[in-house]
Amino acid sequence: MGLKINTADRFKKLPPYLFAQLDELKKEALAKGKDLIDFGIGDPDIPTPEHIIERLYEAVQDPETHRYPTNFGLMQLRQAAAKWYEGRFGVEVDPNTEILPLIGSKEGISHIPLAFLNPGDVALVPDPCYPPYKSGTILAGGVPYLMPLLEANNFLPVFKDIDRQVARQAKLMFLNYPNNPTTATASKEFFEEAVKFARDNNIIICHDAAYSEIAFDGYKPVSFLEVDGAKEIGIEFHSLSKTYNMTGWRMGFALGNKKVINCLAQVKSHIDSGIFRAVQFAGIVALSNTDHLAELLSIYKERRDLLVEGLKGLGWNINKPKATFYVWASVLSGYTSMELSKILLDKYGIVVTPGVGFGQNGEGFIRFALTVSVGRIKESMERIKKFHG
Ligand SMILES: *Cc1c(COP(=O)(O)O)cnc(C)c1O
Repeated sequence: MGLKINTADRFKKLPPYLFAQLDELKKEALAKGKDLIDFGIGDPDIPTPEHIIERLYEAVQDPETHRYPTNFGLMQLRQAAAKWYEGRFGVEVDPNTEILPLIGSKEGISHIPLAFLNPGDVALVPDPCYPPYKSGTILAGGVPYLMPLLEANNFLPVFKDIDRQVARQAKLMFLNYPNNPTTATASKEFFEEAVKFARDNNIIICHDAAYSEIAFDGYKPVSFLEVDGAKEIGIEFHSLSKTYNMTGWRMGFALGNKKVINCLAQVKSHIDSGIFRAVQFAGIVALSNTDHLAELLSIYKERRDLLVEGLKGLGWNINKPKATFYVWASVLSGYTSMELSKILLDKYGIVVTPGVGFGQNGEGFIRFALTVSVGRIKESMERIKKFHG
């Protein structure tokens, strides 16, 4: 007799993977040799800058880098992150106590609930959202309470709409601006409100700033920690993935409140053993020089303008995003986000992500990732023209 495999309750509570059907369609299309234009995944198509790769080559020759890294990461890496952060946002952080390197920011985001949530405890999570806020909460035995991000509110949560009882019970709140998937941005005033709300209700804020450097038209995203009092109640997650085209390298960091940082470090010390040291040395070089950004942003901007103007010309209701490398487009009337995504894939070979995959309030939208060349975006416009007949 075979083993009876029983999964844990927390496992059963994980959200269903809504992209499974689309993944299946995509696989079938590829197997048939169909030419797909893939706007699906937010994974840069442009390589990591050469000098960062060179530093990895060099570092990997040193056998010292082959050994277990330390849990807190190299001091030089924490210093480089602190220096970059202060240079960019004008906020000082102590590299000894207020910064923690992560094996990608997703790693820290999904582990932090383990430090703060008891079974049944609430975490406030935006909807739609980057999935790990929800799944990390569930894996820790917590309960996500969804804060709707509605177009009418510029895709910002409205704190006064949160049930008071829930607010009192909540231990954590996740925020993310510039936002994936909605591309919305947040002002310093919004973060001030968030800090006040978190203070009044004794909630730890976890702000995900993965897209802080991907912004256009002179707009510079603010850091949540620029707000007075923010460091007393929260931390911010940063990532090298999008800024330096380093998604595969797995490197990010958290910074902010030193007690919260220390608790996250303790959780991690039971789970992982840090980032490969050669990668950390490459990360130090990355954080010390952001000269590549101007060109990177001009590439995304050209793609954004081409896609948004093309779709607008076809009657789509769509805004030019100020930040992130996504375009969040209203679906055409008569379709759900899933239906439209399936038709675009099946009939026209265009892969997009249906908004509903990021949460119920993502329904009504599809997301395009601008990780596709200008030539291919032009081709996709021709195909979407055919779709319109
Ligand atoms: C891409 C992304 C990240 C980055 O994750 P890493 O683990 O650092 O690669 C974090 N948050 C959001 C919202 C993202 O889209």
